[in-house]
Amino acid sequence: MRFVVTGGYGFIGSAVVRELCRQGHAVWNIDKMTYAANPDALEGAPATNIHACITDRPAIDQVFAEANPDAVIHLAAETHVDRSIDGPAAFLRTNVEGSFVLLEAALKWWTKAGCPRDFRFVHVSTDEVFGDLDFGEDVFDAKSPYKPSSPYSASKAASDHFARAWHRTYRLPVLVTNCSNNYGPWQHDEKLIPTVISKALSGQAIPIYGNGENIRDWLYVEDHALGLIAAATKGAPGDTILFGGKTEWSNIDLVSVICGLLDERVPAEDPYADLIEFVRDRPGHDLRYAVDTSSAVQHLGWTPRQTLSSGLSHTVDWYIQRGRLEQSKQDDRLGLARG
Ligand code: NAD
Repeated sequence: MRFVVTGGYGFIGSAVVRELCRQGHAVWNIDKMTYAANPDALEGAPATNIHACITDRPAIDQVFAEANPDAVIHLAAETHVDRSIDGPAAFLRTNVEGSFVLLEAALKWWTKAGCPRDFRFVHVSTDEVFGDLDFGEDVFDAKSPYKPSSPYSASKAASDHFARAWHRTYRLPVLVTNCSNNYGPWQHDEKLIPTVISKALSGQAIPIYGNGENIRDWLYVEDHALGLIAAATKGAPGDTILFGGKTEWSNIDLVSVICGLLDERVPAEDPYADLIEFVRDRPGHDLRYAVDTSSAVQHLGWTPRQTLSSGLSHTVDWYIQRGRLEQSKQDDRLGLARG
């Protein structure tokens, strides 16, 4: 099949592109290469990479004309909640205007192509659009009301509404997916799990917001990628699919487990958990997220392959190995051999 993927140099997008290429599909990856992009994550993957912003309509039209896609998986976004608090404008431009431009370009191409019935536009979103839950309260499902807390989740919520409207009004075969927190290889260094690992291994304080009691559901990134590909190939237009790992953990428990895995692999004088430091909470910090994934199970036959324990072990091993590789690259730097 022929796929257009947006944000394919990002954390989840690169997992999607790697998996699509592994399955033998043709992929056109549109990425603006923001600070969050990492082309190394696609090394060896035979995708066509296009350096463009999703708000650039002529560039997007050209990709659709070349690719003649069977499906679009739209992941490009500004994604860091803390950055959205400091500078929300970029979130409005990319997440809302960019999604609008992409829907318009897709609709124009789809109409011109004779409205192929099997075409799918998968709009990738987050469970954060539903706001947060109290401890013990039920979980989010496809009927949960939208109640975003941060500029990031507000921009994602707005784009979800546009995506559904393009299905309802113009019949574009759109699906919306909402997923809980992802973890795994190639996540940007500023996100929680890579930060914990790099701070711990460099002997620095490991910051945890507030009292660490906030609860998140965690899904291994490659399981999310498989779910998105299933949505693009088996999902019905108009569906809302929720993905999650059914593993609700408080941040402090998660960080403590990661410290324990590091203690086993790279023992230091003191346990890494001694480095944990509670820092000022994020404004508007959501208390708890949890999702009902039965739509993904029933509609797509999807269930995660990794448990949190197996996924975290792979993840910690991967970051340790990557740290060593980067260290050895620095050690091999030209001009230092005799120094
Ligand atoms: P990321 O920040 O790691 O990557 C985003 C990618 O999009 C980067 O490669 C970046 O260069 C690209 N990009 C940003 N603005 C662009 C623009 N204007 N035009 C083209 N490309 C642009 O993000 P991620 O964590 O991989 O998230 C991908 C998607 O999944 C997002 O839509 C996000 O809302 C959603 N999501 C993420 C999570 C999570 O835990 N990370 C959970 C649920 C949903």
